Amino acid sequence: MERNGVSDLDSVFKNLMIDEMYIRKVEIDILSLDLIEGKRILKEIINFTKENNLKYAYAWSIFNIGKLYNQEEAYECADMIFKEAYDVFEENNDINGVLSAIGGFIATKCMMQKYKEAIEWGIKGIDMAEKHKNIERLLAIKGNISKLYMEIEQYDKALEVLIETDEIPLVGNISNRMVLNINRVTCEIEENKLDKALQNLESIKSYVDNIPIFNVKWLIEKSKISARQGKLKEAENEILKAFDISEELNLYEIIDEVKIYLSDIYFYKKEYYKVIDILKSIEKNIERSNILRLRTKLYNDLNISYKEINDYKNAYNYFEKYVSLKDEIKNIQNTTEVSLLDAKKEYMSKKDYKLLYEENKLMLEIGKKIISSITLGDIFKVISREINKVIKHDGIEIVAYDNKSKSYKIELAIEENNVVELKESKILDDTLIKYSIDNKEEIIINDIFKEYYHYIKDIERYNKFVAERYPKWKNESNSNSAMIIPIIIKNNVIGCISVYSYESNAYAMKDLVRFKILSAYIGIALENSKLYKEVEYNANYDALTNIYNRRRSIYKINKIRNNIDKISGKYYLAMIDIDNFKKINDVYGHNAGDKILVEVSKLIKENIDKKDILGRYGGEEFILVFDGKNDYIKILEDIRIKIENLKIKYQDSLISVTVSIGVEELYDSSRTLEENVSIADKKLYKAKNTTKNLVVY
Ligand code: GH3
Ligand code: MG
Ligand code: MG
Repeated sequence: MERNGVSDLDSVFKNLMIDEMYIRKVEIDILSLDLIEGKRILKEIINFTKENNLKYAYAWSIFNIGKLYNQEEAYECADMIFKEAYDVFEENNDINGVLSAIGGFIATKCMMQKYKEAIEWGIKGIDMAEKHKNIERLLAIKGNISKLYMEIEQYDKALEVLIETDEIPLVGNISNRMVLNINRVTCEIEENKLDKALQNLESIKSYVDNIPIFNVKWLIEKSKISARQGKLKEAENEILKAFDISEELNLYEIIDEVKIYLSDIYFYKKEYYKVIDILKSIEKNIERSNILRLRTKLYNDLNISYKEINDYKNAYNYFEKYVSLKDEIKNIQNTTEVSLLDAKKEYMSKKDYKLLYEENKLMLEIGKKIISSITLGDIFKVISREINKVIKHDGIEIVAYDNKSKSYKIELAIEENNVVELKESKILDDTLIKYSIDNKEEIIINDIFKEYYHYIKDIERYNKFVAERYPKWKNESNSNSAMIIPIIIKNNVIGCISVYSYESNAYAMKDLVRFKILSAYIGIALENSKLYKEVEYNANYDALTNIYNRRRSIYKINKIRNNIDKISGKYYLAMIDIDNFKKINDVYGHNAGDKILVEVSKLIKENIDKKDILGRYGGEEFILVFDGKNDYIKILEDIRIKIENLKIKYQDSLISVTVSIGVEELYDSSRTLEENVSIADKKLYKAKNTTKNLVVY
């Protein structure tokens, strides 16, 4: 392991002395270590924080070591440590910590089969997290509760809770989300929703590669699905891969589970002796770790396998074990605590629905206004006016992807209801917005100083940059809230919208839900405006040369004709046609021809005034209407000579072209434009019939 990150303890200690909060960053790094190394480092940190009376960091480091004991299945020990952490968190008034410890209790109590206590903690945790609007913890606790339902084989309820967590943004580290996702897949498989399960697995595939334990869990679920779909070979490969990884990296906390599902493959192949061999080798472990789900499966599989080989004595033995375990689970399912938890779960969903229903009307109104805006300017106007009605804020930032520069740009910045003129609209690295866009994650922050480390590394730099862009931004209070939502269409982040508040704890779940709905409307509006722009462009411009098309140039020229007596100076109409263009196509190919059209129109454009009209009239013929009072002949001669001297590089060749031009004064509206064009055309024809590369006037 490299000598930076958490392994460099001296630098960890130094950082902790400066900022105790640094412990939360350390915690994330420890997750990527193996259990033993993680425990060793945490023990040193615990000693250090104790000696230096760093109470905040101390509480978190013991909590984290508790988590590692829990992973190790040393539940009694983990439970005791959580209790100590809980007390210190409470003493420190660290709500986040208290809630984390509660999450820990739910897990340990559950594994120690103290379901009653687990559920009581669960309900307490939900109430507290909701009260303090602590979304990260709410998510974790909901995850714990779903795990509890899974343990007692109520996969449908577990799934309901897990689906609710979908409403909660991705907060905290990615591993939280992965645990939830994998649990969800487990439930979906149990509920025979294989398509959904596969879809969910796919969605985290790219994340699991870096963390072996998740990789193994992922492979187990994948193999289960493959087996159920009858793809035995695939299932076998997947579970063998999981087996190799967990053996090689000594992931003993999961290897037994891998073996159980490996035995499934032999089960399907009717190789019952092999099944029994494997299951007997892990029986003691499974009974000791006492994961109900695995135990029931173990007994059931052994029962059937023994029956298949006609060993009825053993079969009956495991059948009895299986039945009594099932009874045990039934009993737990029927306890009052579980019905309390069920009621709580119902209440949570009802509350959310009611909230959504009430808001629906207002949101729909605002949504309609947003969607009916066509130009970017209109969309932004509506947003800055309407968002106030549903989300309180001191600032808004809207970012959109700019196709031209291939980058994200801040399109609208509002501070205290005033639009801020930004000197710089680029998105910087190591900012909340950058994080949200890169990770396609929603962010809700209720105290930037406590929560920043999930998303950005350097808070000082971040604050400095916010202060530079937003002169009024009050960050001296050292705490403020934010919600940031990436706008995703067809899996592409097309932009990002964010609101900010000076206050801490400004945003709750319901705000995020509202904001998400609004952002969906904004996404649609942004797409519409882009489509509209494209349609408008295609209707008026030539796609190859990007100058006006024939229709649009005629419209523009007529506008000049109608005003001709009001315009001082004289206008001229020129028809410009490339000489021998067919030959160029024949010799160099059509692509070369295209490039010449682009270069020639570019050159003409550069040599005329902004007010002048240049259009592509037909294939290689251009129409030009220009102000000719400064010697119209010279202007055209200049253009002709410059084109003659132009050397257009195409692959290995340098191609030269010439043009012929016929020009006539632009008539006013007393005569038709067709007549006008036809006269200029006749002169062009004359040029073609003499030497070409010529202006005829
Ligand atoms: P002249 O000097 O008399 O104008 O001869 P020319 O060959 O330029 O004129 P002609 O009208 O015989 O041929 C014009 C050619 O332009 C025929 C057509 O294939 C080509 N052309 C028209 N539009 C495009 C285009 O968008 N791209 C390319 N590469 N060629 C085009
Ligand atoms: Mg031509
Ligand atoms: Mg022509």
